[in-house]
Amino acid sequence: MATNVDPFNRRITYLRVSVTDRCNLRCRYCVPVKHFTFLDHGEILNYEEILQIVRAAACLGINKVRLTGGEPLIRRNLVHLIKQLCAVDALTDVTLTTNGVFLKDMARAIFDGGIHRINVSLDTLDPEKFSQITGRDCFNRVWRGLQEARDVGFSPIRINVVAIRGFNEDELEALARLSIDGPYQVRFIEYMPIGKDTFWTPERFISVDDIKSALAPLGPLERIPSSAMDGPAERYRFSGGRGELGFISAMSHQFCHACNRLRLTADGKLRPCLFADYEVDLKTPLRTGCGQDDLVALFHRAIDKKPGKHHAARRGRMQSARPMTSIGG
Ligand code: SAM
Repeated sequence: MATNVDPFNRRITYLRVSVTDRCNLRCRYCVPVKHFTFLDHGEILNYEEILQIVRAAACLGINKVRLTGGEPLIRRNLVHLIKQLCAVDALTDVTLTTNGVFLKDMARAIFDGGIHRINVSLDTLDPEKFSQITGRDCFNRVWRGLQEARDVGFSPIRINVVAIRGFNEDELEALARLSIDGPYQVRFIEYMPIGKDTFWTPERFISVDDIKSALAPLGPLERIPSSAMDGPAERYRFSGGRGELGFISAMSHQFCHACNRLRLTADGKLRPCLFADYEVDLKTPLRTGCGQDDLVALFHRAIDKKPGKHHAARRGRMQSARPMTSIGG
């Protein structure tokens, strides 16, 4: 009997699907500065393969899919995949995480394709600092993309901010203010030590507790009760704010006990934990003719190997051989 419950009694309902390891930005906390090559096109899953995998996942009780990467909007004909995914009956939620560079041009097609909730990553409001951290002069494009997403009707629009000491600690208040002035859910994410050759150092880490303290001048945070869609984020709002805040404390307050997700890498590996390198290969079986039952069995293998908790903070060093861009954030 197919089950999506892991050995620690967590029900796995969420699959993050990376559609490409490539990205049009070079964020210094995400893409390694050296020793990194992108996959050839033939190595990444085609859309039919992704759909076969998602249908098998849906058989198991996975009902939420998030498209990510790399940068999903650079994959050709992404909207075709979106439409097909949104037509999978058992999925109740299909969403997307993007750096926003191509959002202005694509927001309408994505929305019409069936995705109505979106996450946009933006770590600074200063165009110069944006160029420093991402390696590309694209702040204004991302900003226009966010405005377009609002105009088109996405809701919620989440703005993902990785808090990094020495980079954006002086902007946390200004970024949080976006949730007061506009209908945005600003989500502060603790900087995680993923992959080698990025600019991670322990000194750059800012805990969620410290982020909250930095926001004190904006007034008291009012807690919002969590819903099934929230995942690991703690939600808050400022009195009178049009949007809300979220805090994701993957390092300081582990939420592994509530982790309900698996990740599918662009090259077809199913990964039970962001921080552990154990992966189940789905691509080779798919390309040698396996059927849906075999895929479901491979999902079980990954679910059975999901660790009870990650040890990233305790070991205090890089936790994965793959960088974030290649796992799918
Ligand atoms: N390109 C898309 C984007 O920029 O949102 C999707 C992929 S990106 C890897 C997904 C998310 O992972 C982004 O919000 C990014 O900020 C976050 N991320 C990447 N590296 C991280 C790290 N070391 N610690 C915390 N978050 C990280």
